[in-house]
Amino acid sequence: MSARVLVVDDIAPNVKLLEAKLSAEYFDVVTATNGPDALRICASGAADIVLLDVMMPGMDGFEVCRRLKASAQTAHIPVVMVTALDQPSDRLKGLDAGADDFLTKPLDDTALFARVRSLARLKAMTDELRNRAMASRQLGISDPIAAAASDLGDNASVLIVDDRPSSSERIKGALDKVHRVEVEPDPHKALVRAAESAFELVIVSLDLQGFDGLRLCTQLRSLERTRNAAVLMVGEAEDRMRILRGLELGVHDFLVRPVDRNELLARVKTQVKRKRYADRLRDGVQTSIEMAVTDQLTGLHNRRYLETHFSGLFDESAMRARDLSVLMLDIDKFKSVNDTYGHDAGDEVLREFANRVKDATRIVDVVARLGGEEIVVVLPETGLHAAAAVAERIRSYIQAQAFAIYSGTSQIPVTVSIGVASRRAGDQSPAQMMKRADEALYRAKGDGRNRVIAAAA
Ligand code: GH3
Ligand code: MG
Ligand code: MG
Repeated sequence: MSARVLVVDDIAPNVKLLEAKLSAEYFDVVTATNGPDALRICASGAADIVLLDVMMPGMDGFEVCRRLKASAQTAHIPVVMVTALDQPSDRLKGLDAGADDFLTKPLDDTALFARVRSLARLKAMTDELRNRAMASRQLGISDPIAAAASDLGDNASVLIVDDRPSSSERIKGALDKVHRVEVEPDPHKALVRAAESAFELVIVSLDLQGFDGLRLCTQLRSLERTRNAAVLMVGEAEDRMRILRGLELGVHDFLVRPVDRNELLARVKTQVKRKRYADRLRDGVQTSIEMAVTDQLTGLHNRRYLETHFSGLFDESAMRARDLSVLMLDIDKFKSVNDTYGHDAGDEVLREFANRVKDATRIVDVVARLGGEEIVVVLPETGLHAAAAVAERIRSYIQAQAFAIYSGTSQIPVTVSIGVASRRAGDQSPAQMMKRADEALYRAKGDGRNRVIAAAA
């Protein structure tokens, strides 16, 4: 997969070297020689990943990273800090500034490419979610992106999978004050627990007795119930090739033993933030999908949903030569309800109308508000006579009990007229069924209302 990598370094030969290496691996490379330029490029959306030199005159790499991570516009762009100094304090400073990883010069190519590829993949996924979340923002839902970027990354539920008590206790001890931590020495049980309890982060030892920890990592990454959890590997320096393989397979991050507790805390925090960011975007998308197919007044499906699902049901019934019917319902003299009792009372009637129609139909029936006081019900596997019987049941249920208005302080009678139509062998589309149902409804109105009329089969 190709990604746009922004290389930031104040020394030109360093930029050239990285640019050559990355271009040879088919990454698109963008360059900057100072912090402010880097920030501008990121804000313009031209970078998928940033390789950031720490020591630069003026604004140093830590500051650039902090600013990128502080802005909702750029917080999701992965940052890898690059420095000549392999000082734990520098690593920590970078991670604290929000960097996703830390590489030291001279750069090891295998590690560099593995890291950039894994971050590019994550970025592509996040972008997809961001795009959909942007669309939901246009639908008027509160901004999920700003909310997502502001999470602190603490108080996470963490599962440690490690069969050496000395090691798991050490990791647990480091995380306990900030997170809710559990330990599971058995990798098989760990997978079940992770699937059942929705841990936000799973830390997997790569030196389990008689079991390849990498296998557990990839299972976690692929199972529906666990794939959104962050996964962190812990291995020995000799496990390097397996660690790189893990990154390729989608594991989010790793630590090398002996585990530095501050680095552990920083990496866990970064992963928890990233995971919650994606979760928030996903929730926002889910809400927007639901909103897009739901009628806000009644909670019924809306016209858009009806159109999609009716045509699916129509095709299926035509293909299998099964019955399919549709009811078109319209409240009688509804305008006079509004005129006499006010628009709010009209809304109360519409909600109760929707509830009663739902009550009188099956789960498999599609009940949608077309707009105004019109509801359409699609009845799969139902012939004309059965559909007319359902319509009659709804009609009498609406008439049987007066509708409460003004929050239950008053009651008014309501009746409904219903047109019924079934699929004919020659029908090409749901629209033809709808048209016959509509004509039947029109006749029901003309014949005096409060009645059911079925179109000829
Ligand atoms: P008919 O028996 O012929 O169907 O008469 P009607 O008055 O029900 O028919 P008409 O289609 O003329 O009136 C529908 C009314 O529904 C007009 C509009 O004010 C009202 N209406 C449409 N949408 C809403 C809504 O969301 N809330 C409320 N309260 N009224 C609505
Ligand atoms: Mg009406
Ligand atoms: Mg009407």
